[in-house]
Amino acid sequence: MSRETTPTEWHSVPEERVFEALDSDESGLSTDEASERLSEFGPNRIREDEAVSPYELFLAQFQDFLIYLLILAALLSIAVGLLPGATPRYEEAGLILLILFANGVFGFFQDYRAEMSIQALRELSTPNSTVLRDGEKVTIDAEDVVPGDVVIIEQGDAIPADARLVEVTALETNESALTGESTTVAKGTDPVPSETPLAERDDMVFMNTTAIKGRGRAVVVETGMNTQVGDIATEIQEAETRETPFQKEVDALGKRIGIGIVGLILVIAVAQFVFTAAGWLSILLTGITLAVAAVPEGLPAVVTLTLAMGSRKILNRDALVRRLPVVESLGSVDVIVSDKTGTLTENQMTVKRVYTAGTNGTVTGTGLSTAGEFRHDGDDADRERLVPLLTCGAYCNDAERAPDSADDPYYGDPTEIALLVSAAKAGIDPEHERLREIPFSSERKRMTVIARESPSTLSDTDGFDAATPTAYMKGAPEVVLDRCTRVLEDDGVRELTAAKREEILDRNRAFGSDALRVLGFAVRPVEDPEDDPERVERDMIFVGLQGMIDPPRAEVSEAIEDCRNAGIRVVMATGDNVQTAGAIAQTIGFGSEEAMDGTTVDTLSDEALREVVENVDVFARVSPHHKVRILKALQENGHNVAMTGDGVNDAPALRNADVGIAMGTRGTDVAQQASDMVLQDDNFVTIRDAIAEGRAIFDNIRKFVNLLLSANAGEVLTVFLGVLVGSFFFPGLFASESDALILTPVMLLWINVVTDGLPALALGTDPKASNVLERPPRGGDESVIDRRMIVSILTIGLTMTVVGLGLFFYGLQAVRDITTAQTLLFTFIVTIEMIVIQVIRSRFDQPLLSNRWLIAAVAVSFGLQLVVLYTSLHTLFDVRSISVGGWELIALGSVVFLLVTGLVERAVD
Ligand code: ATP
Repeated sequence: MSRETTPTEWHSVPEERVFEALDSDESGLSTDEASERLSEFGPNRIREDEAVSPYELFLAQFQDFLIYLLILAALLSIAVGLLPGATPRYEEAGLILLILFANGVFGFFQDYRAEMSIQALRELSTPNSTVLRDGEKVTIDAEDVVPGDVVIIEQGDAIPADARLVEVTALETNESALTGESTTVAKGTDPVPSETPLAERDDMVFMNTTAIKGRGRAVVVETGMNTQVGDIATEIQEAETRETPFQKEVDALGKRIGIGIVGLILVIAVAQFVFTAAGWLSILLTGITLAVAAVPEGLPAVVTLTLAMGSRKILNRDALVRRLPVVESLGSVDVIVSDKTGTLTENQMTVKRVYTAGTNGTVTGTGLSTAGEFRHDGDDADRERLVPLLTCGAYCNDAERAPDSADDPYYGDPTEIALLVSAAKAGIDPEHERLREIPFSSERKRMTVIARESPSTLSDTDGFDAATPTAYMKGAPEVVLDRCTRVLEDDGVRELTAAKREEILDRNRAFGSDALRVLGFAVRPVEDPEDDPERVERDMIFVGLQGMIDPPRAEVSEAIEDCRNAGIRVVMATGDNVQTAGAIAQTIGFGSEEAMDGTTVDTLSDEALREVVENVDVFARVSPHHKVRILKALQENGHNVAMTGDGVNDAPALRNADVGIAMGTRGTDVAQQASDMVLQDDNFVTIRDAIAEGRAIFDNIRKFVNLLLSANAGEVLTVFLGVLVGSFFFPGLFASESDALILTPVMLLWINVVTDGLPALALGTDPKASNVLERPPRGGDESVIDRRMIVSILTIGLTMTVVGLGLFFYGLQAVRDITTAQTLLFTFIVTIEMIVIQVIRSRFDQPLLSNRWLIAAVAVSFGLQLVVLYTSLHTLFDVRSISVGGWELIALGSVVFLLVTGLVERAVD
């Protein structure tokens, strides 16, 4: 490919020269050429910072003050051993280091998996782009866009690369990513002088900006790092490393607990020093090991991992999580404000009824097939009469027939496709010469196209003639009627009287009550197509209504019912009219048909709206600004709101919602970029599923935190109380220096590995409890560790300590051998921690065998314990094999533990 101009000059060359210089033309590149260019220029992306290297991630596991201390102490124990008269404790030191290493490996896997999942999610959120390839519109990954591609830009699209405009219709873009200015920039195709500064070049569009209004076509001149945004890439690299609220909470909590534990350990050390014969080195080593084992510094990593794994599960349910914290927020959602069209309904429109020139008609046929006919009040319809209405629907239309595609014969908005199909049923050709378009927006609720041609049946009547262009308007019937002063009747154009207007609105309501989506149509001759839009869209001639069905999605009623059982209210906020919204609401199981209009919302004060949002479930004819007000009112009432949106103007609502949900297929890039989550299938059912997963993930985090803190509390309390009780009641037992410990450092570290390692990872994969959607949502400000969990941690920790020490001292007295007593306590704690997993899980309604991974993890952990006890490893660990009598004691202790914790759990619930 030859490139004759430098990047900064692209904008100022005339259109033909742009194509020429880029070796492309109006019909875009061929697929082969595009793939060649892709390998030449590379993918169209802004290089991201290098991903974290696994090596660094692994090293990071050991970069912790406590670990340094422990390594130091282990080395010290060898060094001291080298002094005359002492034996170096090589095995102990070696084992400590080995177990630390194993711990590090677990930590690494957790972090690495979390990192990979987050990375994968990030890659999934790259936008698509529509370009011409081989002369046809295709949607491709924005990263595959190459110089020379012709990009089709629609309202709401993210611009994929720097491109020179060759065609625009009222195009305005937001270039705040480049300029910091949030006002929109109007675009044109006329070349501007080359000295014009970037921010004022209006014949170019730039990567990372968005089309807020209108449409256009542009030929790509630069991609990837060669774009303007590539130049400033380092400045805009978003730091996506913000912590989620949970992560923050758990982090802070970990620190607090850590400080507490270190304090306690100091007390233990002093007590050991004063009351036992233990040497200072043993005391130091035990203290530091206890700190390493019990300070929950791994918690934040596990929370991240659980969130990341959870977001993958949510993705399997067709919802893409764009921001990790939303996984947490999902669990506390108590109101969902949902769009109707496409989310609750199929967005598969078919025109069923028409109204024109005072008469009603029906249309046969289904789906996108053009087989079907019109009947007027029972008879075959007079085609002539329908021409203005159907022509208006076909011309004022951005949908297109897709060439040669039998599966997907049309391209565009389903409402508009339905109008093309209805026109085709009457044999009306949508071809026209378009002079201008005044685009649709959810605010305007109408769209106008000015075409050279007038409706064939109207030529030569009332100002329509071959020389005068015609404006065709479609939109919400009442909005269109407001722009009309005349109406087309059988005998020509008449004045639109108040009575006639009422008759039309009546029809509109009747169509709506049958759950039809209704559009109104109007036309007029225009002298000056470039006139001010206000002057074009007035004094119009009303030509009729078309009513289309849009069936509710399968399963939606069930999903709404599920939400209700889960304490989640579903509110519909639709741009459609009151009757249609109400009728659909009723068919899908909303309690009432009562719907409030957007204009009524406008009359309410914020105070009054706060009351209304508690009672009204259906809002109709809402604009994006209504959605923001409804959202605010709900949030002020203390609700956690999930809100859906698809349009450009929905971005503020999506950004402010607790969970902003954009549509994957229907939604604009702008909406997606403002959202927390994207529904890939646009389906309401997916919201329910994502909420259920969100709740399950929160459960899993709680289970894990509960497990870890109970275990740690148990370990610390055991050593602490063991030393105290031992010193006071069994002073003789601590007489020898080397035996004077409740649990050796190696045992403590081992306990940590078998409990925090595999079972912790496996807990993150616990399935949803069968009743996740039967309980009320979690309060938004409820923290991970609530009162219930504190009770559980204390109960488990204390019971474990009391029973464990009971076994220890009983064993000590019975066999007079501290190693046997230590082994008994050590194995008891490992056993109990396996049991605790289920004690905690059953509080979350998880049956014993519901998670295979967990069963395997527990089996492996317990198996490893047996290996330590019964193989030659036992000398290394300095433990004894446990006899049958010993196991009986452990079993007895476990039963007592289960009874006590079971009773307390029951008493608390
Ligand atoms: P929801 O908000 O549930 O997605 P919706 O599609 O009806 O519903 P909007 O897109 O805001 O919401 O549309 C508002 C109204 O504007 C519609 O009810 C319809 O009357 C009219 N309308 C929709 N699409 C078009 C269009 N392409 N051209 C003209 N008018 C339209």
